[in-house]
This record gives sequence, structure tokens and C-alpha cells, in this order.
Amino acid sequence: MSASFKRGINSFKEQMDAPVAAFFSSCVRCGLCSQACLFYTETGDPKYTPINKLEPMRRVWQQEYSFWGKLASALGISKPVTDAELTEWETLVYDSCTLCGRCSMVCPVGNDIAYMIRKMREGMAASGHAPEGLIGATQRAITIGSPMGVKLPALQAQIRHVEKDLGCTVPVDVQGVDYMLLLSSMEIMNFPEFIGAITRIFRHAGISWTISSQAFEATNSGIQIGVSEIAAELVERVVRAATELKVKYVISPECGHAYMAIRWEGPNLIGRPYDFKVVHILELLDELRTSGRLQTSGKETQRLTYHDPCQIARRGGVVQQPRNLLREVAADFVEMPEAGIMNWCCGAGGGVSANERADEIRLKAFIRKKKQLDEINPDALVSACSNCRIQLEDGLEENEMDIPVLSLTEIIADHLVEKEQKEGQQP
Ligand code: SF4
Ligand code: SF4
Repeated sequence: MSASFKRGINSFKEQMDAPVAAFFSSCVRCGLCSQACLFYTETGDPKYTPINKLEPMRRVWQQEYSFWGKLASALGISKPVTDAELTEWETLVYDSCTLCGRCSMVCPVGNDIAYMIRKMREGMAASGHAPEGLIGATQRAITIGSPMGVKLPALQAQIRHVEKDLGCTVPVDVQGVDYMLLLSSMEIMNFPEFIGAITRIFRHAGISWTISSQAFEATNSGIQIGVSEIAAELVERVVRAATELKVKYVISPECGHAYMAIRWEGPNLIGRPYDFKVVHILELLDELRTSGRLQTSGKETQRLTYHDPCQIARRGGVVQQPRNLLREVAADFVEMPEAGIMNWCCGAGGGVSANERADEIRLKAFIRKKKQLDEINPDALVSACSNCRIQLEDGLEENEMDIPVLSLTEIIADHLVEKEQKEGQQP
């Protein structure tokens, strides 16, 4: 038995907490979760069913912690999990699960299958069975501070462009402001317009904010690959920066899993509560709308629909806010079937997009989104996650669908009431 395989099996054993034991004891194999998983529905291959993805971990639990499993092991009836099986399961656990949590929503006994897959990834990573793409992204996150290798000078260059375009300063390392904004590498490199959009909105609403040069990265590769120690260290960097800058709020940007990582998992990972609050950018924009600090004018006339990023809507509860905001700026907003908390995943979350080996299966999974779009024929698709945007663009291109993908924050910025208009308004 190799040292890494032994580490992996030990890690599986360490993951066995009450929810894991409850899951394996209570699963009645009804198969409902299969119908909720886009990797299964779009391939029809039983190996992609959620519970099959957990099979090696289930066997470790059975053999180690159940009476009949222990007995079967002792009698040699039940075979131990092998390294070859973990190699086989690597693609199931990393390439064909986006941790979207849709399966968890339908389980009649309340099993959180996405939580289980996260647990399973801990054992897989410990045994050396994580995909190269994710290992590389995680190493870059630790050494450089960003999974895409984005360094501070690259962010500074994007900031200079924004400042030149808008004629104002983008605040960096300003102490004592209310908000600290995080950005995902994808926003910095693929959608830098987002930084300009935020700057315009915050200038309009009079928000005091800053970006930290020490911790601007929002994404957390440690969670995606399944190494809690790394995930905790990445959260600590944000906490340190927010504490040094003495901010009241940290803003999670248009990135699904970044929100889940910093908002929901972060305090548990570091073992203490934050001294600040975390808000998703859509939550903040909707609050500003409600309080009258965000005023828009004019509406998009094209038929718009909204793709709910799984970690923001289903796992994060930010469902109504994007709709409130869209109704402010869209004359023809149409919901896709199964919109909201049961919306289908784009097919590339949970580290799948960082794993080149998964390209074929993620594009197959996108067919589920295509089917949703085919039912409503939108002119454009709006979302609030850069990772979703890239996958949606890829999938649409692959299927020769001419539908632009837009950022909700950027649309809002394009409809801001100009300063002169605002000043001319009656109080
Ligand atoms: S979390 Fe999503 S992708 Fe993963 S098994 Fe469940 S439904 Fe499938
Ligand atoms: S839906 Fe729940 S009970 Fe049914 S097979 Fe899936 S995990 Fe088991």
C-alpha cells in the first residue's frame, strides 16, 4: 500500500462525521438524486449518478463503522477499496460534479450529497487523486495568491485602464472604509469591465470602499480540490486584509463558489467568526436599490433571461435580489423553466472549469442549459458569475447559439441615473 493511498484512506476515515454516517445509513437508493444531476441526465450513464460518485467512501464507512460491514470484512466477503478504484473514481468526483447541490434538494431523507462529495474530495486529494489542472490552480493560489496566476501588477494595470476611462480613482488599500471588494481572477483577466462597472455604481451610490493589494482574490481553490488546510489559509488571507483595513463588510463579487467559500464555509474553516460581514454584490446592489441610493433609468428592450449560479442561488439564497434588479432595467425579462433554487448548473462549477480533462463532459452537461434556453428563446442571457459566463459562452458557441452572455452588475452600471439627473431630482 503506497503512502499516499494510505493517507487517502485515513482521510476518508477522518471525514466520517455525523452527517456522513447519517447519509450512508439513511440512503434508500430511491434514485431521485440521479434525475437531478445534469451529468447523469445528459449522458444517461449510471456511473454519473450522485450516489455512485460516493461509492468508495461508502465502502470505507461500511467496512470501518457498520457492524455488518466489519463482519463482512473479517470474513473476507467485502473487499477493501483499492488505489485502482480511486484512480477510476477521480473523473467522477472531480470532472463530473460541480458541487451544484441540485441532488441534495430532492433527496427525500435530506442527504446533502454535495457536502458528501466535498468530503470525498478530501480523501481523493490526500491519496494523490486530484486532477492536474486543479493541483496547478491550487499551487498558484498558495504561491502567487491567485489560481490563474494573476499578480498585483496585472490588477494594477486593469485599474489604471478603468481610472483613465472614468476619470476617477479606484481605491486600493484605503483604511477605515466600509467595504472591501474581492475579485475573481476571471473578472480581472476575462471581464475587467466588471471593475469599471463597480466603480461607477459605488461612485453613484456614494459607497466608501477599497480593494486590498494583499488579498484581492475571491476564489478558493482549496475548497474545490478538497484540502481544508489550504482553503482555511486562503480565507485567513482575506480576514487578515479586512482586519488591517478595518472594513465593516467584505463584498463577494460575481463568482459563485467564492461566495460559498467566504460567506458560508469561511468561519467554519478558520474556526472563529469574522469581525466583518460578507455580502454578495447582488445583495448589496439590491439593498442600495431599496434604500434609493441606486437609481437607474431606461430599460433594455431585448428579451433577457437569468441563469442562477448554483452557489449564489441554491446554496447561497440570493434568488430574489437579481430579479428585483433585473426588473429595474429589463422591459422583457423572462424566466427560464426551473429558474431559481432548482435552476440547472452551467456545468463548469466546483473546479470543473480548471480541469482541462473535463472539457468534453462539461460541454455535454451544458446541453441541459441549452434545453432550458430553447424553451424561451432569449436575446441575451444574464448571470452573476464569471465562471458561469465563460462556460455559458463556450456552450453557446459549441451549439452555434447566438446569445450574448451579460453581467448583471454591468447592466446595472449601464443604466445608472447620471449625476446631473440625480441632482435635478426633487428630494
Ligand atoms: S452536486 Fe450537482 S453535479 Fe454533483 S452530483 Fe449533485 S447534482 Fe450532480
Ligand atoms: S435521493 Fe437521497 S435517498 Fe434517494 S438515492 Fe439519492 S441520496 Fe439516496
